[in-house]
Amino acid sequence: MAYKLFIPGPIAVSEKTLRAMAQPMIGHRSSDFVALYRSLQPDLQSLFGTKDPVYLSTSSAWGAMEGSIRNVVKKRVLTCMNGAFSDKWNDVALRCGKQATPLRFEWGQPVDPEAVRGELAKGGYDAVTLIHNETSCGCMSDLPALMAVIRKFPEVISIVDTVSSFSAMPIPKDKLGIDIMITGSQKALALPPGLSLVSVSKRALERAEDVADRGYYFDLLEFQKNHENGMTPSTPIIPIIYALKSKLEDIRAEGTEARYARHARLNRAVRDWGLARGFKLFPKEGHGSVTLNCFANTLDYDLPALNKVLKAKHQLVIDGGYGKLKGQTFRISNMGDETDATIAVLVAALDSALAETPKAGS
Ligand SMILES: *Cc1c(COP(=O)(O)O)cnc(C)c1O
Repeated sequence: MAYKLFIPGPIAVSEKTLRAMAQPMIGHRSSDFVALYRSLQPDLQSLFGTKDPVYLSTSSAWGAMEGSIRNVVKKRVLTCMNGAFSDKWNDVALRCGKQATPLRFEWGQPVDPEAVRGELAKGGYDAVTLIHNETSCGCMSDLPALMAVIRKFPEVISIVDTVSSFSAMPIPKDKLGIDIMITGSQKALALPPGLSLVSVSKRALERAEDVADRGYYFDLLEFQKNHENGMTPSTPIIPIIYALKSKLEDIRAEGTEARYARHARLNRAVRDWGLARGFKLFPKEGHGSVTLNCFANTLDYDLPALNKVLKAKHQLVIDGGYGKLKGQTFRISNMGDETDATIAVLVAALDSALAETPKAGS
């Protein structure tokens, strides 16, 4: 049965994008591929706000997130943690055999720039990981303020996950001074999963030259070397690269400012709906994500029952809470191709489904 995803990734993929994927394969060392690869760079660089290259990694975002750690951490990485993905990044660094110090905040609280400053000032760090938009709890940290602090520590390479905020709001990489900026295909870009996009500064590449055990698949120097020839180190996921090309056309046609405004407006529409029904936002006031709303289940609805009704009667699915927040929160995405009309259909469905959903205790 077909149904539409309003979970915060993967999200619904348009017919146009799906059709773009259904094209004949080309060799990844052919001039056709080189032309395709190079044709993507200007639009990608503009979306990333960078003059640096944007590498195409055939992996989910975690591949690039783990790979970045392996490429630039020589001494110690500070891992800023305020939700499931950022918590896991600390664990990933340790599993890569790196020295990693956690800087913990409650889930739903933003990463505090002053706490980052205090920790980095202790010295011994040469990298920091940061998640701009913690999708697990719908919490967005103040990236410009954080980067202003991190830039004061010239030895520290910044690795920033913009997986669930990229292309939904401006994140000017060069202006903010981000060294490594990572995103994935299945979030706001509304592509199928399988591709991650990584833009890397010269500084970070210079660091990588000095780091042993970078491995092969995610070696940034391999990405750079191949990039110079318009290629990827290994055979890439060509159908999703076709889809990316199609999506970049869509973004250009809409205009980035209009795209950012649309995400902000639809985000507010869902938020206003939830607040009007008596739910509260889970993340700290003023730090709600622009691409999803994570509501606290303050009215104690049976969330699996709610999703059952949504799926059976309205052919759509929301998220019933991530990890330890399962049942206590629900998340609704407004990423990708959503419009005022599709969000209106969503909130009408939510109202209808809530009316026939039992409370958890009953
Ligand atoms: C989805 C997500 C990831 C993980 O992405 P995968 O594609 O599953 O590897 C990492 N960080 C954030 C913020 C995410 O939203």
